[in-house]
Amino acid sequence: MRPNRFFHVIRIGPVKVGSFNNGRGQTRHTAACTAPGCGFSTEHDNRSAAELAARTHRCPA
Ligand SMILES: [Zn+2]
Repeated sequence: MRPNRFFHVIRIGPVKVGSFNNGRGQTRHTAACTAPGCGFSTEHDNRSAAELAARTHRCPA
């Protein structure tokens, strides 16, 4: 999955939360960890779920 444009990108600890349009008129929200070797990444229908996932992520890296 390669979203072409993110907006409202914020950082919570090592995790970035961003929203994007999926090209079908829907807004999706992701939380992705930027720590090397972690690979944590989730996708959500709503912003608060993505932010919650970022906030509760326990980074193993
Ligand atoms: Zn992590």
